[in-house]
Amino acid sequence: MKIKIHPIPAFSDNYIWTLQNQSHAVVVDPGDATAVTSYLNNHNLNLAAILITHHHYDHVDGLVELQTQWDCPVFAPKDERIPGNLTVVSDKASVKIEQLKLKFKVLFTPGHTLTHICYLNKDMLFCGDTLFSLGCGRMFEGTAEQFSSSLNQLKQLNDDTKVYCTHEYTESNWRFAQEVNPKNQKLNTFKTLLDEKRKQGLPSLPSTMAVEKSLNPFLNCSDPTIVSAVSGHFNQQPNTASETFALLRHWKDNF
Ligand SMILES: [Zn+2]
Repeated sequence: MKIKIHPIPAFSDNYIWTLQNQSHAVVVDPGDATAVTSYLNNHNLNLAAILITHHHYDHVDGLVELQTQWDCPVFAPKDERIPGNLTVVSDKASVKIEQLKLKFKVLFTPGHTLTHICYLNKDMLFCGDTLFSLGCGRMFEGTAEQFSSSLNQLKQLNDDTKVYCTHEYTESNWRFAQEVNPKNQKLNTFKTLLDEKRKQGLPSLPSTMAVEKSLNPFLNCSDPTIVSAVSGHFNQQPNTASETFALLRHWKDNF
């Protein structure tokens, strides 16, 4: 049976991605239980499982209420900051959800936080705050080496992989990508499509790995154009791709 994927909007710019068939749903990073409960009730859905990528409040705050209500498993990385009765999963673990006949592979992607994980199902990636369309999460806990190695791992995924990020940050990330690489014509084409979607009130997501590999500066820290933009901006020559990443992240933090 075909799985439908729906973003439940939460807070100012979060999406709680919901995978559903006719009777059951799985939600990823439910920061807000109320939004999820009303969606499930309106669509006559039972909650089969919850997937958690990392411990931040806007990804976990709804989980205890939802787990109490539905008595469903909560898959999450090992991290004492995450509440609830957790089924802890680690790198390369497989997560099976019988009611939807879905199987996910866990990818360990530290950088935004030290225990961040992503969930991959064939051509769908639920990447929390590790990867955003044209950007990446802030480096709150990890090192630049860890974060760039996590992003390189995601860069190995097939071009047709759909990228389900948690935040609607695409427009501001586009402005930064344009600042870093103003001569990339593909960014203009991307912006036209982005504006059309946003004007209709549609999410910019999911993205695809093809788009991210081609346009996301944080996935291209070895590209001479990105290296030279970074060295020009800081008047400092990075020696490695992770040094380029660190400077690029710092640039974006202050952009
Ligand atoms: Zn976060």
